[in-house]
Amino acid sequence: MKEIRDIKALIAQMTLEEKVSLCSGLDTWHTRGIERLGIPSVMVTDGPHGLRKQRASSDHLGLFDSVPSTCFPSAAGVASSWNRQLIQRMGEALGRECQAENVAVLLGPGANIKRSPLCGRNFEYFSEDPFLSSEMAANHIIGVQSQGVGTSLKHFAANNQEHRRMTSDSIVDERTLREIYLASFEGAVKQAQPWTVMCAYNKVNGEFASENETLLTDILKNEWGHEGFVVSDWGAVNDRAKGLAAGLELEMPASYGEGDKQIIEAVRSGQLAEKKIDEAVERLLSVVFKSVDSRRPDIVFDIEEHHQLAREVARESMVLLKNQDNILPLAKGGKIAVIGAMAKEPRYQGSGSSQIKPTRLEDISEELAKSAGEGAELLYAKGYNLDAEELDADLTAEAVRVASTANVVVVFAGLPKRYESEGFDRQHLRIPANQVALIEAVAAAQPNVVVVLSNGAPVEMPWLSSIKGVLEAYLGGQALGGAIADLLFGDANPSGRLAETFPVKLSDNPSYLSFPGEGNKVEYGEGIFVGYRYYEKKGLAPLFPFGHGLSYTTFSYADLTIDKKTLKDTESLKVSVRVTNTGLRAGLEVVQLYVRDVESSVIRPNKELKGFDKVELEPGESKTVTFKLDKRSFAYYDVEVSEWTVETGNFELMLGRSSQDIILSETVTVQSTAVRKTVFHRNSTLSEVGKTPLGKVLVQQILANLPFAAAIGSEHEAMVKAFMEHMPLRGLLSFSGGKFTEISLAAMLKKLNDE
Ligand code: BGC
Repeated sequence: MKEIRDIKALIAQMTLEEKVSLCSGLDTWHTRGIERLGIPSVMVTDGPHGLRKQRASSDHLGLFDSVPSTCFPSAAGVASSWNRQLIQRMGEALGRECQAENVAVLLGPGANIKRSPLCGRNFEYFSEDPFLSSEMAANHIIGVQSQGVGTSLKHFAANNQEHRRMTSDSIVDERTLREIYLASFEGAVKQAQPWTVMCAYNKVNGEFASENETLLTDILKNEWGHEGFVVSDWGAVNDRAKGLAAGLELEMPASYGEGDKQIIEAVRSGQLAEKKIDEAVERLLSVVFKSVDSRRPDIVFDIEEHHQLAREVARESMVLLKNQDNILPLAKGGKIAVIGAMAKEPRYQGSGSSQIKPTRLEDISEELAKSAGEGAELLYAKGYNLDAEELDADLTAEAVRVASTANVVVVFAGLPKRYESEGFDRQHLRIPANQVALIEAVAAAQPNVVVVLSNGAPVEMPWLSSIKGVLEAYLGGQALGGAIADLLFGDANPSGRLAETFPVKLSDNPSYLSFPGEGNKVEYGEGIFVGYRYYEKKGLAPLFPFGHGLSYTTFSYADLTIDKKTLKDTESLKVSVRVTNTGLRAGLEVVQLYVRDVESSVIRPNKELKGFDKVELEPGESKTVTFKLDKRSFAYYDVEVSEWTVETGNFELMLGRSSQDIILSETVTVQSTAVRKTVFHRNSTLSEVGKTPLGKVLVQQILANLPFAAAIGSEHEAMVKAFMEHMPLRGLLSFSGGKFTEISLAAMLKKLNDE
């Protein structure tokens, strides 16, 4: 039952020391309470794809034991489902498990953008695209919080690598920060109000995220309206008093009095107003009491039901990348060779703080055997040593022998644990050499090879052309075995779509030249051209594009309609399309809507994802999918005026099944309502001045007076025109043969600015 509490009155009863004590943790996982005032201590813990509640010893790196909980696929996979309702249901299940374990806040989800496929933590992040990432994060949060459990949207912000993660400085220009890195958080904060936001370890443009007032206060709290509190990533505090002043309410883990001392000193010396502490405590207590009021101590959850949900999520998280000759789904009842150590020692979650202890773990080969049908014969060969790089000739020979006796071979390959983890980045995109050699050897002996990959981020596939099928299983959680079996044998139809680009090779990636930086400095030199925005603009073919994923059925798109041809940027636009399942199996289609500004005065991507929806269709069935676009769907971030801006003009709307497979398109005209007064100065160019009615008249007069205007019509025309177009007004002093003086220039500027 929600008690009526007057938090302000409670704060008024506290000493400064008591207030400050609430601004840091009690230990690794608990906030501090104040017994005499009835303020409890609550537990916060990882996150994001399962609950890591530690039993005795505690650490923030996932080293010690924790209570069993359902291990869902990690974010890289879940994002590939492009299914908002599904991740919301996963969030609800996570929330129930938190309630059962008396956990107030689950530390996740992570909304950092995948700048480079090398980032060791990409498995825990959603996408290279801010719209997809923020939509998935928002629905994760909505799900968890619907159960009266808070979330911690992390790691805010520009935390896109693990290398030197506690000291690196992400140097990102403002437009890129806004359009790519912050946008991923913004949508989630505005839509879902996470109870807490976790600030990142790194610096952003020279200032630690944990003491960055622009990020924590100006943008997060004031602009986006975040109501909860900010918690530091574990150990992210550099200067506690500065952090508190900047908007960091809670330091975690406990700093055993050190942080308190700094804050109290800052208050006593007059550097920090006590009011700031009051505000911080008010935010902290609002969340603590919200959690207390939402406690459901009697909650029980059904382990089996959550396991089945994990299987459903896993099915939708896996992406069928290649299916030559329709090698998949596999015929039931056949002779199938299962090859690869990863079939027996599956990689189903990432390492580090998110690593949990699953309630159970499905055995891939057992699940395959269950699904293989009557009369089926399943053979197994280990093929390679998971812990080694070198090829083992005996294992290879045995695998080749087994492969050549089967109708079809399924090779299980991917990244071993030692290749990717929180704490460090990968150095390359390869899978171990012994796995590559195995795939090649098997493919030489058997024409029907399918590779199932388990990895948290893209890998290079030099063997792709020698095999027929690839299922990207990502890190599929505890029910990965059943999900893989369901998909391989066609008991479920693949419906995952890549939430990131798979490059042919590492050097194709836009961050290649500057990742992971020099010393602590990481220049985000590629700017807004992250992921498909770059590949599209460059015309560089990826191995698999953003949004790609195959199905066992086919879909057609028709009747693209828009509710208006012209709109103001304050209005919204409805876009709909009719999608039909034209194949023989039921399936799910992800309809993707991309937008392009046809003509722009600033550099923009060729297409940007602005809408998506997933629909389930029986064979022959049609459904209409509708999207709503608004100002943000057409805008770029204008750093001159610090605002999202739409330029008047045409925009192309592109509907398709991947960033490269656009099926229908339509053009709409958007009119900007921005009233912006340009202030002219001596360095405004003639072309800029000529944009206003008065300016146009003045420029005509100026041109008539410029001696070299006489060259128009001569062989020098192109040069002279360009020169005049981009000449600043002050150039008139040098090039008008004395007709313009400082006085007449000042008078002209006054006239222009008074207009
Ligand atoms: C990670 C966070 C995590 C925290 C607590 C940190 O090392 O970066 O994502 O929530 O530890 O385990």
